[in-house]
Amino acid sequence: MSVEKESPTCPFCDGKHVELYSSFGTAQLVRQYYCLNCKTFFKKYTMERFFLLIDLMSQPI
Ligand SMILES: [Zn+2]
Repeated sequence: MSVEKESPTCPFCDGKHVELYSSFGTAQLVRQYYCLNCKTFFKKYTMERFFLLIDLMSQPI
């Protein structure tokens, strides 16, 4: 058995040398990562569909 480790790729440089900087928000739905390659912070939603739904619902009609 292998340990599945969460390793997102950087959306800017597509690099894999990222480390978890902090997690915040309700139930830690949002996580902030730091790319060691291009030295950029980026956020990652653990429940992207859930947030997409929120975005759709919160839009003014
Ligand atoms: Zn990067």
